[in-house]
Amino acid sequence: MRTSLVVGNWKMNGSRAANRALLESMRKEMEAGVVAEVAVCPPFVYLADMESLLQGSVINWGAQNLSHHEMGAYTGEIAPSMLADLGCRFVIIGHSERRTLYGETDSLVAEKAIAAQKVDIIPIICVGETLQEREQNITEQVVERQLNAVLQLAGVNALKKAVIAYEPIWAIGTGRTATPEQAQEVHAFIRGHVAVQNSGIAEELLVLYGGSVKGSNAAQLLAMPDIDGGLIGGASLNAKEFLTICQAAV
Ligand code: PEP
Repeated sequence: MRTSLVVGNWKMNGSRAANRALLESMRKEMEAGVVAEVAVCPPFVYLADMESLLQGSVINWGAQNLSHHEMGAYTGEIAPSMLADLGCRFVIIGHSERRTLYGETDSLVAEKAIAAQKVDIIPIICVGETLQEREQNITEQVVERQLNAVLQLAGVNALKKAVIAYEPIWAIGTGRTATPEQAQEVHAFIRGHVAVQNSGIAEELLVLYGGSVKGSNAAQLLAMPDIDGGLIGGASLNAKEFLTICQAAV
């Protein structure tokens, strides 16, 4: 039995004051009762505030990226152990914005996922196709290639303590969502691909959907059998919308 997970990716948004206000209203709403596991991923510089803002709440926190290096002369980078130091439970890895804007490759994404696990942080590994790839009918090949980078580097056991987020790039921040059936098809493919190597790990693996999820479409998406929660961008910046999504995930 998989427990749902909803993660807010704040991207490069927020300020100390705005984060405080957002989290205060989220906490108030969540205390009314949310069964799904919930996390928010603010920009690095606000992670240190999360401990005090979220102490005693049901909301976990995580980062949006990390370095695959342990420590050292890597100006501007953040080491996995630093995120652990700040209480991060999760880290988003290989978001399409990192892949397309910052040139992150499948193999770098895989190295980052393993680096996170070494310090007991759960990587949320993002996979997904472009619109052009969907139109060429190669969605499954693309997702398989992205997954295989992790499987080849560390074996299927690496997915025991990892989360996969299927995020079709054409649906991220565009207002265009995959239909529940389109998303379910890819989620089932991902689980099936892992099941070929280990059916137990596949059965336990959380596969989140991301791409223009909002309060109004969350329930249909999250009702699909292989969709175990959501990775939420824009809608995670609005307490009411985010709560509606979290409630739909239960
Ligand atoms: C994301 O950035 O991971 C995302 C899914 O964004 P949005 O919900 O805004 O499409």
